Amino acid sequence: MTVRLYQRDPYLFEFESRIEEKDGDWIRLDGTAFYPGGGGQAKDKGRINGQDVSDVEERDGHIWHLVPENRFKVGGMLWCSVDWDSRYDVMKGHTAEHMLFGALQRIEPRLQLIKIDIEAGMKRLTVTGPLTRDNVEEAEREVNRAISENLEVQRFEMDREEAEESGVRAKLERIQGDTLDVVEIGDFDSAACAGIHVMETGEIGALLVERMASAGGGSHNLDFLIGDAAVSKALQLSHVSLRAADMLGCPIDNVLPTISNLKKDVEDGSRNLRRLSGQVLDNIRPIVLKGVKVHAAIIPGIARKELIAKADEVREQGGVAILISINDRADFVISAAESTGWDCRSLVESFIKPRGGSGGGRKDFVQGGLPDPSEAEAVLRSILDAFQ
Ligand SMILES: [Zn+2]
Repeated sequence: MTVRLYQRDPYLFEFESRIEEKDGDWIRLDGTAFYPGGGGQAKDKGRINGQDVSDVEERDGHIWHLVPENRFKVGGMLWCSVDWDSRYDVMKGHTAEHMLFGALQRIEPRLQLIKIDIEAGMKRLTVTGPLTRDNVEEAEREVNRAISENLEVQRFEMDREEAEESGVRAKLERIQGDTLDVVEIGDFDSAACAGIHVMETGEIGALLVERMASAGGGSHNLDFLIGDAAVSKALQLSHVSLRAADMLGCPIDNVLPTISNLKKDVEDGSRNLRRLSGQVLDNIRPIVLKGVKVHAAIIPGIARKELIAKADEVREQGGVAILISINDRADFVISAAESTGWDCRSLVESFIKPRGGSGGGRKDFVQGGLPDPSEAEAVLRSILDAFQ
């Protein structure tokens, strides 16, 4: 069995070790500080005798290191170093993950942990069960309080029976053997885990859940940051909130109710606009040009699909429709029954394209737009004049 130096001393990142066996480019050492991954915690990276370790793997209780194109000899001593920056980040993130899930499950006991992904640059918990933003915010506050209390993190072995009775968080069905490694974080959390953790919670610095997103099937991904990254993100979010308050012209505590009221106002406004536009469309009085009934109108803010529905109706009744909606540009829809002899495509070519617009379709129906909405009136007038 390879001696797991990372379990004796999680802070050891440089060590000397003897090579006991080779298998191609894979080497087995008598002891290693390289963590082979597991429990959602990423594998370590680093160097052995100056060469990159591109993979670490556990096989039958031994830990193997892949060092491409190495010329190491069995029995020789090697100088090894684990990439400390990323390992320390992962250790802190992993300890923070215990605390975050422990707090969440205390707040909502029906929550279950599905998956953990802790690597440098990405820290994610996937949980299933009922979860609200209030739950997450409360857990976040509790974890940060426990971080500032600098609780001691201890690891010890426990008998399986004792673990069952003590209520340590563990998936016992997945753990082999009569004993298990238990990680205790002060009186805050206690869970079975064979990963690597920091010694004191103060090392984590801070925790911030930056994203809570549905992962389908009633589960959620919680992405979190720790340390300086959490503080920077908190500052950025604070700046966004303060600017939002300035923009809304309300105190910061009123941002959410103000947005909620604005949203409702917009919904009411849109509903009224739709109703009024519908009335305007219904009330267009056709003008008769050389025996053809032409329904022409410019209507601010109306949806294109409503113009299309009206244009279809006019065509079916044997007429011509020239309908224009004004937003940040002018959208037009033109239809003409075959019996009128009008060709909608020629209207686009003769009247709309010369004014910078575009559009296309069939002889009896075209749609398109004019980038400058102030041109709409002139376009409509020129079409009507041409058919006087
Ligand atoms: Zn752990």
